[in-house]
Amino acid sequence: MANHSPSPCPLCRHEELEPQLVAETAHFLLLAASEPLAEGHLLLASRAHQPCLAALPPAVDAELLHLKQRALAMLAEACARPGLLEWGDLDSPSAHATLHAVPGAPDLLPDLGRGRAVVPVDGPEQVRAEARRWRRYVYWELGEARVMVCEAGGEALVHDCLRQALGSPAPAARQGQAAARWLRGLWQRRMAAAGEAMQVVTCLLRRGERVCLLRRSPELDSAPNKWHGVSGYLPEGVEPLEQALREIEQETGLRPGQVRLACAAPAVTLGSPALGRLWQIHPFLFDLLEGEPRLNWEHTDLAWVLPEQVARYDCVTWLAELVRMLLGQP
Ligand SMILES: [Zn+2]
Repeated sequence: MANHSPSPCPLCRHEELEPQLVAETAHFLLLAASEPLAEGHLLLASRAHQPCLAALPPAVDAELLHLKQRALAMLAEACARPGLLEWGDLDSPSAHATLHAVPGAPDLLPDLGRGRAVVPVDGPEQVRAEARRWRRYVYWELGEARVMVCEAGGEALVHDCLRQALGSPAPAARQGQAAARWLRGLWQRRMAAAGEAMQVVTCLLRRGERVCLLRRSPELDSAPNKWHGVSGYLPEGVEPLEQALREIEQETGLRPGQVRLACAAPAVTLGSPALGRLWQIHPFLFDLLEGEPRLNWEHTDLAWVLPEQVARYDCVTWLAELVRMLLGQP
């Protein structure tokens, strides 16, 4: 459920996190590290508060593994084979379980294991068992090697080891939003090449005879400055309608009770593997029942227009077609 009071936790402020977002699934976010230790440094974080990966329910193991494997393959191809690590603490309930993928990380085991208990682990059940024994640990994975190290001060230890090995600050690594944009592009091209479409929900808000167009911010890497409806990526494992309501709330502040679904059109596929871009759009039409949409950082302007006026706006290319589909006009 959305949290409506400002949260002090950076990983709970989804709106501010979005510029760093590379991909997302029902329970996990894949983020570009804001202070990368190496080029391509990714964070795989739980959406909800979970003390550590060892505290996650077994029901999400497959989802985590799938996302992790895809991130690993992407980084191995674009940067260098990443080392994966987590410092976990079963007793920190307001944390987000976070696995770091650091391309080009050397084998940290000699440093991590010095004077500490080390156990090879072969799967999530064993990780859970060791975590229950130690409470605080470092998980380290490089290639086939997976170990847990009993260590209370995991974060400081890992940072020290990595900084020493990689050099700090990371030389010439893309930072911040530039890193995120690059990684997002890589992720999407890899999906398109595999014939997998990026799933997108697009919602048109209607009040009376007019529909709401929103002008996309120049900061966005997809269709900057263009007019569009409410639109956003659909995380794997989430229902399109659920995500549509979430996007409307994020982008306009309108709560699910303030809008009513009028209709959903069949999904439309755009782009092609050859173009390196492949999208499947899930279109929805909602009637606005009460309240006024407000803009968030993703948009700079808003206009209520008659359907026949849509063509006068510099819209995302396929929006006019989508308006026709949703409003059932010739
Ligand atoms: Zn949080």
